[in-house]
Amino acid sequence: MGNGSYNAFETAQAQFDKVADLIGLDEATRQLLRQPIREYHFAIPVRMDDGSVKVFRGYRVQHNDARGPAKGGIRFHPQETIDTIRALAMWMTWKCSVVDIPLGGGKGGVICDPRNLSEREQEQICRGWVRQIARDIGPYTDVPAPDVMTNAKHMLWMLDEYESIFGGRYPGFITGKPVGLGGSLGRTEATGYGLISVLSEALNELGIKIEDTTASIQGFGNVARHAAEKYQQLGGNIVSISCWDTADNKSYTFVKKSGLDIKALEQITDTFGSIDKGKARELGCEILDGDAWLAQDVDILIPAALENQINSSNVDLISKQVKIIVEGANGPTTLNADKVIRERGIFVIPDFLANAGGVTCSYFEQVQSNTNYYWEKDEVLNKLDVKMKSAFKAVSNLAKSKNLYMRDAAYVIAVNRVVQAVKSRGWV
Ligand code: NAD
Repeated sequence: MGNGSYNAFETAQAQFDKVADLIGLDEATRQLLRQPIREYHFAIPVRMDDGSVKVFRGYRVQHNDARGPAKGGIRFHPQETIDTIRALAMWMTWKCSVVDIPLGGGKGGVICDPRNLSEREQEQICRGWVRQIARDIGPYTDVPAPDVMTNAKHMLWMLDEYESIFGGRYPGFITGKPVGLGGSLGRTEATGYGLISVLSEALNELGIKIEDTTASIQGFGNVARHAAEKYQQLGGNIVSISCWDTADNKSYTFVKKSGLDIKALEQITDTFGSIDKGKARELGCEILDGDAWLAQDVDILIPAALENQINSSNVDLISKQVKIIVEGANGPTTLNADKVIRERGIFVIPDFLANAGGVTCSYFEQVQSNTNYYWEKDEVLNKLDVKMKSAFKAVSNLAKSKNLYMRDAAYVIAVNRVVQAVKSRGWV
């Protein structure tokens, strides 16, 4: 979503340009990959509950589909912008490529605030979005999924509309469906668990035992909670969590040096990921300002809330003890902040590698839906762990052999695979 002067697409393009220079990419391929191959902008008229008609703006961006159907979520947000969607679509291309799944990159959105819309109005937006774009998406062209403020319920309305238009059952059209109606077991946990798969691999390589480490997390939504649970199961100690307080309209950091009780915190967190301050105090938490999560003396930082969260104004708060940053959110670190982090020698597991567990499991969902055969949860999570660890190893091996920063190594692998696909297809 839009955030002051920060433009996610400019960041995504600058990151790409840097890699294009690094691998000496020719001009035509560079032009093809630094912008979306297709994008759709449309209007969604909806009859509201009060009888009036409101027209919402909807988008779908397909950044690149040379390696397979485009894949990416649909966001509902009042401050959504086309540039954020473009950036996210481009990051999806690199994300699918770095974990080597046969999908391209897409992203969609609607400018709306579901918090102020009835269920019926949200359903009409979902169905309207599909009606506008149905002929340009589908199981073999572009497969949507949930994202910020959209969930399984929205996906099912979208699937139902798509199936009504084409007259059949196409569960592989969309992912993030409810389990039992085409969804995959393990999808809810996948992004957070995937984050910890790559973190454990990084700790192994650095010769650090997970049970000797402490971590601080930004965010307490889907990604952060499952990452926190898994990290604690493996023996790690979480000392601080920062999240947004919807009532006060600002963020706070909840700190407990002896270790936060994640299960207990989950009990006092609302559906938007805000922790109840009064009850948190009863659990022994100290409550500090929103940026304090960055300043904790911990070994690991996990930004898992939003983009643009570690920037020039707060990067110097990062404690000297921090050894690893695992980016759970998409684009949490600005280019300037990344430079500082790199100079300080902190080991970074970049967003599109670290949080690729979600799309990897969505791919598993698509495979299960297309074959109409569903796997046990252990099978899904084991396959996920294998895929994430092997992607991490490939990036880390390249980083070591070519003396590259981890983010650059991940980009080199991801971009090179897409370059190979567009060239093999004869597009450039
Ligand atoms: P979510 O909506 O479930 O949770 C977001 C959390 O961030 C909430 O706890 C909220 O309170 C907190 N937050 C928001 N603004 C904040 C701020 N300024 N300071 C501190 N905390 C703040 O979202 P999610 O699904 O957990 O996704 C988090 C990030 O991970 C997003 O960038 C998303 O694009 C990315 N991501 C998610 C998935 C997935 O499978 N859910 C996959 C890949 C990437």
